[in-house]
Amino acid sequence: MAELISGKVVSEKVRLQIAEDVKSFAKETGKVPGLAVILVGNDPASSVYVRNKHKACLQVGITSYQIELPESTTEEELLERIDALNADEKVNGILVQLPLPKHILEDKIINRISPKKDVDAFHPENVGRIVIGGYDFLPCTPAGIVELLDHYKVDISGKSCAVVGRSNIVGKPMALLLTERNGTVTLCHSRTKDLASITSSADILVVAIGKPEFLTANMVKEGAVVIDVGINRLADGRLVGDVKFDEVEPKVSKITPVPGGVGPMTITMLLKNTLTAAKKQL
Ligand code: NDP
Repeated sequence: MAELISGKVVSEKVRLQIAEDVKSFAKETGKVPGLAVILVGNDPASSVYVRNKHKACLQVGITSYQIELPESTTEEELLERIDALNADEKVNGILVQLPLPKHILEDKIINRISPKKDVDAFHPENVGRIVIGGYDFLPCTPAGIVELLDHYKVDISGKSCAVVGRSNIVGKPMALLLTERNGTVTLCHSRTKDLASITSSADILVVAIGKPEFLTANMVKEGAVVIDVGINRLADGRLVGDVKFDEVEPKVSKITPVPGGVGPMTITMLLKNTLTAAKKQL
């Protein structure tokens, strides 16, 4: 049986540490780190994510500013809100919940957030720093995965790693972080030929494609470490990952469950980035 990699357990531990650090920061500086989260429109999934971020901030003592704007908000209005938050000293981190309504260009919005307050690490300047080194922030989901691998003593160095999915928020930065830790990485996507031959030779396999239970037992190596990033809601209401857990779990050495695996770590890393931003802005 595989060991379960519990994001719930690790994130509780990391959040306790962040809460301690926020307390010391407040004592030393008289300031409380602040995170502004902007939600445009009323997408139900986004509303849940924003609420969870708010709760997590409160839990560790970070001040949370929730800004809810109507679907009809124009790009110009949103840019003005960001300018105001960039200039607001109480706000150390700014996050715009994606996806945005179709009439707003996401790139334009992300590029307007000050790189110093870009706690999602999506701004091109921060992405560039991840590629060439010397970064302050790492994107939350891949950073959370590295934290999980460290906690469960998975040595990345020299290992054969496969990342399935090449999004800007998960797959691509994940490949970079594994490379930074001296993994030998293959980044796969929808055009990859013979995906199974690549995934089944990986010691560490990260799957982030958004396809329910896509990765089956024949696609994994015996004893591999499997990280399932996917969050998919089935018609019957069940929440499943991108990995067919029941058949893959007996074959591998360690695996993340869904829910309770990668998910809780993503918000935890956001809290960590907000504290880092507050320290850097002193
Ligand atoms: P995107 O939809 O942005 O990207 C999906 C990627 O998967 C693309 O690169 C696509 O390839 C690739 N892909 C799709 N189908 C296949 C296939 N059959 N074989 C190989 N590759 C394929 O996804 P995200 O990265 O935003 O999200 C992925 C999943 O992770 C979703 O379920 C999402 O909900 C979840 N997620 C979870 C988070 C968490 O905190 N746990 C955080 C962020 C996301 P191509 O580029 O060629 O189109």
